[in-house]
Amino acid sequence: MSAATQRGCALVTGGSRGIGAAISAALAAEGWAVGVNYRSERSAAAETVARIEKAGGRALALQADVTDQQQVQDAFERLTAELGPVLVLVNNAGVRADDLALSMGDGEWARVLDTNLTAAFRLTRKALRGMIRARFGRVINLASVVGPRANPGQSNYAAAKAGLIGMTKTIATEVARRGVTVNAIAPGLIDTDMTAGLDGTLLASVPARRAGTPQEVAACAAFLASEQAGYVTGSVLYVDGGLGA
Ligand code: NDP
Repeated sequence: MSAATQRGCALVTGGSRGIGAAISAALAAEGWAVGVNYRSERSAAAETVARIEKAGGRALALQADVTDQQQVQDAFERLTAELGPVLVLVNNAGVRADDLALSMGDGEWARVLDTNLTAAFRLTRKALRGMIRARFGRVINLASVVGPRANPGQSNYAAAKAGLIGMTKTIATEVARRGVTVNAIAPGLIDTDMTAGLDGTLLASVPARRAGTPQEVAACAAFLASEQAGYVTGSVLYVDGGLGA
């Protein structure tokens, strides 16, 4: 039996565009009904859902700012009522607000930590109950090569992503015997809106000499969500063209 034939669904935070949209499509192609979360870009989420439905999949656009606990609660309740318990959680929503530490404000620090790390913890805590009950669950956290590796101007982002890796490993050991796996994907430079404004310096240091595609990250997420990946937990899968090697 494939994992997706179990009663339940997948939730992808920030699933409306970029890497999240590609992961939503890849999970739908594996048979998962997918909650496509977005914060503000309703049309991007609607487009992602339409693309999934056109390919024969099932998806639901879900508005919620992941840093707002009430919005998350409402979206989670709606999703589980319509598509069943969340058995695959992809904590993908992320933002960056770069500045050198000397001039970084508390607001930029808090916004990046709240979105990339704290929201992922809260959603994981919320989803674990249903996963443990089902004796099947997959939590996939979008970390980054930044965190384990320095990137000047990103102390907030690096702290959040390094924290996400620590959280991934720790929760993985807490739930391993329950059939639930928790893993991180650490992308390098991937061609999305988030990286559109970057200069070419980082690209020059990528051994593969090109940016990755959202689909290349999504293929790894689909593997980690699969039944076959049941013995892979607490790991960090680098998808970075060799950048972090
Ligand atoms: P994008 O900027 O292209 O997309 C970000 C997504 O996150 C959007 O769907 C956005 O929703 C959503 N989002 C942002 N803030 C919130 C929030 N508070 N609540 C709900 N949704 C939110 O990002 P990428 O696709 O490039 O990145 C996806 C993940 O991968 C992030 O965690 C990022 O840190 C990580 N990553 C990306 C890399 C890259 O090179 N692109 C490299 C390493 C890691 P909306 O459209 O409504 O704004």
